[in-house]
Amino acid sequence: MTTHLKCLYCENPLDGSGEHVILSALGGKKQTHNACCNPCNNRLGTEIDKPFADSLQVFSNQVGITTGRGKPAPTLRKLDSGLGYEVNLRGQKPEVAKASVKTETLPNGQIRVNIQARNEEEARRLLAAQLERFKGKGEIGAVTAESVSQYLPQMRFSLKLGGSLGLRSVAKMMLNYLCINVRPDQVRLGVSAEIIKFISAGERPPEPWVDFDHRCVFPATPNPQPFQHRLFVFASPNRGLVFGLLELFGALRFSGLLAETWSGPEINRAYVIDPITNEAFDATVVPPAEIGREYFATRRFDLGVASKQLQAFFSTLGDLQRRQNLNEMIESSYHSQMPGEGEVITNDHIQKLARDLAGRFVVSLYRIDSREPLDPTTLMPSPEEDKK
Ligand SMILES: [Zn+2]
Repeated sequence: MTTHLKCLYCENPLDGSGEHVILSALGGKKQTHNACCNPCNNRLGTEIDKPFADSLQVFSNQVGITTGRGKPAPTLRKLDSGLGYEVNLRGQKPEVAKASVKTETLPNGQIRVNIQARNEEEARRLLAAQLERFKGKGEIGAVTAESVSQYLPQMRFSLKLGGSLGLRSVAKMMLNYLCINVRPDQVRLGVSAEIIKFISAGERPPEPWVDFDHRCVFPATPNPQPFQHRLFVFASPNRGLVFGLLELFGALRFSGLLAETWSGPEINRAYVIDPITNEAFDATVVPPAEIGREYFATRRFDLGVASKQLQAFFSTLGDLQRRQNLNEMIESSYHSQMPGEGEVITNDHIQKLARDLAGRFVVSLYRIDSREPLDPTTLMPSPEEDKK
């Protein structure tokens, strides 16, 4: 028997288009080919998935995800540091967003050039350009340089989650996972037309079919890790229901009612993916007992529970970052103070290492800003380089 299955969202036949179950931008890898056609995939990708993934960029950036297509976490650009310059957050590492060169003419006719660069390499490049610019126009006066490291005050992000666009994207992820687990024709017979219309056209169903859910107790899954995405689909022909649960970054929870007249197979499946390592697995799990048809009418956004979940997320993140910083500090201190391979480590080395580490600890614990003078000659272009 050959069946020409139609796209869930339009009348076109399926064309083999692969759609990520959990958005690739959030680290999802698994794809279904049974859901929609390529034009619908592209349209919904731009219309609902991208804005939703963008609204979660703070999470993706801070957790340091790898996207499903193997790309690094998004950089958050031009955040206000409160220190008079903007910073970019690349992974968890803040850097000054943009170098600057300012020139001013002093009352005595001298020109002062002020270069602010992100690192010595860049300072060197910018200085060389300025020296070139003023070449033969008089003597170069004093060049001073300093390396400044400043602790950023707490960064402030605003989170705008979901809205209708986000909930459509969430509904689509649940539906995609259902498509992985049952025959394509069963999806088309069983899933409610309202949910399809909601995803495709944003038509609000008479009641919220998919929403934030801070009350539901999510099933336990094997091998829990922080920041995991977990997507559940439960289909019960006895109760006629299909419902989905989605947890993103271990912190944001949604539930959705996908069907009320289900006669397809019984399914109790979970898809779990770690967005940092991209390790993923499917498992069979027991659905939460509390969820029945009535449950969805009583579900609500609960600010108290929601903020507790977010606090847990950021505190786990903080612990992880502190551990990472500590490791990096030790490694960098070791490299700067210890001799190279094959050389003998002396007591003197060890004492220097201890002193260096202690200094770094103090700076890090007390969040001290530091200004160190730099030897300006290290920034000047070297004559050999000119010849090249
Ligand atoms: Zn289509």
